[in-house]
Order: sequence, then C-alpha cells, then structure tokens
Amino acid sequence: MTSDPIIRFEDLSYRYTSSETAALLDVELTIFAGEYVAVIGASGAGKTSLCLALTGIIPNMTMGSMTGRVVVNGQDTADTLARELARTVGIVFDNPEFQLSQTTVMEEVALGLENLGVPRAEMLERIAEALGIVGLRGLEERSPLALSGGQQQRLAIAAALAMDPRVLVLDEPTSNLDPIGKEEIFSVAADLQRERGMTIVIAEHEIEVMALYADRVVVMDGGRIAMTGTPRDVFREVEALESVGVRAPQVTQLAYQLEQRGEPLAHYPSTLEEAVGLVDDWERQRAGEPDRL
Ligand code: ATP
Repeated sequence: MTSDPIIRFEDLSYRYTSSETAALLDVELTIFAGEYVAVIGASGAGKTSLCLALTGIIPNMTMGSMTGRVVVNGQDTADTLARELARTVGIVFDNPEFQLSQTTVMEEVALGLENLGVPRAEMLERIAEALGIVGLRGLEERSPLALSGGQQQRLAIAAALAMDPRVLVLDEPTSNLDPIGKEEIFSVAADLQRERGMTIVIAEHEIEVMALYADRVVVMDGGRIAMTGTPRDVFREVEALESVGVRAPQVTQLAYQLEQRGEPLAHYPSTLEEAVGLVDDWERQRAGEPDRL
C-alpha cells in the first residue's frame, strides 16, 4: 500500500429517482493506491451504490440526484466519460453470466479493447496477459457459457484487467459461486494486490476472508459509512457491528464471549491464525504457566 490517494469520495450523497431514501449519504472516504478495501454491510446498506459511484456508473448511467463528488485518479467521475474511467477502474459484478455477452473467451476479453481502439498486436498481448493472470490461458476458443462459475468470474476479471486499470472493484463477486469458485476469486484478487500493487475494493459478505486479506474495512449502514479501520479495529466492535446487521468473524466472537465470562484473551483476533496463538497463551495462563514470548 502507498500513501498516494487514488480515490476520494467528497461528501457524496446519492438518491435514485425511484427511491425515497438516499442510497449514499455524506460519504467521505479516501482510498490509497495499492490498498485492499473490504466494503461490508447489511443488505441495502449501500455497498453496490458505493461501487457504482466509484466507476462513474453513478451518476453517469443511472437516474438520480447527487451532491458532493468522487475523484478517481484526479478525474471527477461526473465529468469523465465511462470509456475514460474504464482505463483506471475496472468492475466485476455479482452475477458472472450477466456480464458475459460474447461467443468465445477471447472475444469477451477483446471487447473493451476494441471499444478503446487498441491496435491488434497490442490487443493480443494484453488478452494473453490478462488470461494468464486469472489462469484461463488455453481456453481462448471456449464459450463463456461452458465455463464453471468461478472460471466465468475469472473471465470477467480478465476482461477488466485487459484495460490495465489501477483499481479493481468487485461487487459481491463470489455470492453466486460454490466454495471452490469463491476461493479462486479471492486468490486472484489477493495476488493482484500483493504481486501487482493493484488497488482492490471489494463488497463482500465473507467476513472471515475479508479479515484475512483486507488492509481496511469500511462498514456501511443506511448509505453512510458507519465505521472504518483495520480488520482488527473494526471487527473487535462486536456489538456495534451487530447493531448494523453485520457479524464479526467467529474467532472474534469467541474472544468476545470469553471477555464476557471474565476470561479475556490478550486482544481480539480477527483471523484463525491469530486466534490459535492467543488461545494457546490463554490456556497457558489458566494453567499458571508464563506466556510465550
Ligand atoms: P445488497 O447487499 O442487497 O446488494 P447493498 O448494500 O449493495 O445491498 P445498494 O444496492 O447499494 O445496497 O442499495 C442501497 C439502497 O438503494 C437500498 O435502499 C436500495 O433499495 C436502493 N437502490 C439500489 N438500487 C436502486 C435502483 N436501481 N433504484 C432505486 N433504488 C435502488
């Protein structure tokens, strides 16, 4: 992660024309280049709307009223063509089938590049690279409909990556996938951040996985940002999370229960690995042995 702000939400509020309540309310948020940001919240909290605002789909392609602004890589999304923004931000939605329209894997990845007028030789290079990153090389002539759910979602990611964006937005990308498909997507996203320094913004219900990968968690409630911080700082707020319809990771809940019983762990873990060490120390302490260093 860097200290270079790549996305700024400046007091953003948005209401869809057909809705009486705001989908986003007074959102102030800065995302730094190379950061992995998990957006969590109950159904209707505003996660998808936040993702759409990030890519300029809100306000450019939706009906509604907006105040405040979103600046992506120095560009105000309201004044920038979707085609231009697509060079900086790629988005992948929850349902892979709805995003795929072409007859072959190759054509699917080529589509955005054709729209940008990228020369053929460069196009072939970019397609090969994008398919390589998501592990779909060799399937170029396959129909997207013949792929597994996880492969289809990886194809949607490849199509976004071919545009060489700095930011990848994933809106509940695993909600229609089986556990293997989910793991495929989480692993590709983690590699993109770690190995290529890509900024990842992901709306996701898989709390345990987010605790493992995210640098920062943004909790949404009623269109507002209710909390933001590192997974450890956010997930230890077990009761505050419950009040906005989000559960903490199970290992954090365990620490919470132990604290309620008057037998706290040294701190709140958010991942299983962390919890194992803390529980070891906790058992030792109960047995009267000193902590490990
Ligand atoms: P979910 O987890 O169910 O996808 P979410 O956290 O992504 O929910 P949004 O989809 O952003 O939440 O919805 C925020 C609010 O905006 C909700 O009240 C929702 O009903 C409303 N909303 C979302 N899309 C539209 C739309 N196209 N037209 C009108 N209202 C909408």
